[in-house]
Formats: sequence, C-alpha cells, structure tokens
Amino acid sequence: RVKRAGGGHAAFQRQEDQRATQQVERLTALHRAIERDELRLYFQPVVQAESRAMVGYEALLRWIRPSGIVNPLDFIPLAESSGLIIPIGRWVLKEAVGVLNSGAVQEVCVNVSALEIRQPDFVEHLRWVLEESGIEPRRLCLELTESSMLEPRFAAVLHEVHSLGVHTALDDFGNGYSSLTAMTSLPVHVVKIDRSFTMDIGEGTPGGVRALEVVRGIVAMANAYGLPTVAEGVETPEQADLLTQVGCAYLQGYLFGRPEPLPLR
Ligand code: C2E
Ligand code: CA
Ligand code: CA
Ligand code: CA
Repeated sequence: RVKRAGGGHAAFQRQEDQRATQQVERLTALHRAIERDELRLYFQPVVQAESRAMVGYEALLRWIRPSGIVNPLDFIPLAESSGLIIPIGRWVLKEAVGVLNSGAVQEVCVNVSALEIRQPDFVEHLRWVLEESGIEPRRLCLELTESSMLEPRFAAVLHEVHSLGVHTALDDFGNGYSSLTAMTSLPVHVVKIDRSFTMDIGEGTPGGVRALEVVRGIVAMANAYGLPTVAEGVETPEQADLLTQVGCAYLQGYLFGRPEPLPLR
C-alpha cells in the first residue's frame, strides 16, 4: 500500500514537472510572440439593436502559433502573471490605432487589463499613441472590467482617458463584484452586459424570464445614468429581439458575426 502511494506521488510529481516545463516553454514562446509577429487582432461587429446596423468592432486578441490559434483566455493569464501583458497591451493599442488609421473600420473597442491600468505611464502612452497617429480619439474605446475597478488609480485613469476624448466601456457588467460606483460616478460611455445574462434569457431557458428581468433592470439603471448598454454573446434571434425590447441599445455576438481577422468583408 505504501509502495502504491509512493508510486502515485512520483507520478503526480512527474505530472507537476511536466506542467511546469510546459508553462516555461509557453512563457518563452509568448516572449517572442511579438517579435515573431504571431499576434493578431480579430474584429467582432457590434450592431445597433433597433436597426441592426453595424456601428463598430471589438478587437479580440489571437496568438497564431505554428501549432494553431491560441485564444486569449489561454494566454492572457500567463501574460498578466509574467508582466508580458504590458508590451502585449501596447502592441494591441498600436495595432488598433493603425487599423483605425487605415480606414478599415470606423470605431474600435480594445480590452485593457487591470495591470495596464496600474502602470503609472498608461495614460501618457495612450496620449502619445493618439498624437502620433492623429486619429480622432473618440473612434477608440477602452473596455475595462470590474477587476480594474480594484486598482487604486482606476478613477483617476478614467478621468484622464475621458479628458483625452477616448471612450470607455464597463466590460462584463454584472459578472463578479459589480461596482455601481463606476457606472454612477465615473466618466464611462457604455455598459457591456456580460454574456452570462444573455445566455440565460429566452422563453425556453430555465430561469429565462427572470434573467430577462435582470437585464431589464441593468438597462434601466444604466439609462438612468445616461448610459447605453451593449449585450454580449447574442447567439439567437430570440435573444436579440428580447434584448431589443428591454432597451439594450447595442448587440454583439455570433448571430451578427464572429471575431474575424482583417480584411473584413
Ligand atoms: P470579453 O472582453 O468578454 O470578449 C468577449 C468574448 O466572447 C470573446 O472571447 C468573444 O470571442 C466571445 N464571444 C463573442 N460573441 C460570442 C457569442 O455569441 N457566443 C460565445 N459563446 N462567445 C462569444 P475571446 O476572443 O476568446 O476573448 C476572451 C477574453 O479575453 C475577452 O473577454 C477579454 O477579457 C480577453 N481579451 C481578448 N482580447 C484581449 C486583449 O487584447 N487584451 C486583454 N487584456 N484582454 C483581452
Ligand atoms: Ca471586452
Ligand atoms: Ca465582455
Ligand atoms: Ca464577457
């Protein structure tokens, strides 16, 4: 019995070692991703709910490796824990502004990590990128999640970004520790309702009616503060119609288009 337990432990240790080695290999590869030109922005359309007219895109990061395409949830955590998110975030911003400059798209939202917000020179760098490119700042929107709200400088950064004329979105609203403070007292332009709500709504879904009422509540609350809402993860015509009915101003999801690389059709 003792022997078996020991064998189990050794196997466990081997697995752990393998995992650690894999992490180190991945980190080394991620280090080189920028210089090897392996990062790409994919673009997913956002439509106006009533007209279904396209109004802009969200830029979503992809890592194109020889072995396949890696999604952000599989490398952003590593990028954050290693600090690589800073150069990666700068690459994303530069790339998005370049795409705006090329005229390929009219408006782009980019995702910003809490760690980027923490950088003392975050706004200075943003200002520099904007000046360099000469684009109209309001064509760019920064999506900030609730984890950014825990950053001590969050409010200050929002005010500074606002004064540059760049738009901001509260991303993943309702998912995690929702801070109403951000919605009610800080300069943001739009509230993005998390996909977890969109997923649940609909007549056929258990709890679907209640989920819709929650969304109706979020929309009303946001509207009371003068903020329009975007519903994420819209996959079915029924979801789109219900969300439109409860007053969501914008919709985003596979129903209207998946994230795609340039050139966009
Ligand atoms: P997010 O900001 O909530 O982005 C929306 C995610 O939902 C995207 O996943 C998108 O592809 C996916 N999605 C959109 N519509 C639908 C739908 O109808 N159904 C379903 N099932 N999924 C849908 P993605 O591209 O894998 O990105 C995941 C997360 O990674 C993003 O969540 C964002 O938090 C983060 N991320 C992506 N790009 C960047 C980036 O450039 N910088 C940083 N810091 N984070 C990023
Ligand atoms: Ca987002
Ligand atoms: Ca989101
Ligand atoms: Ca989300």
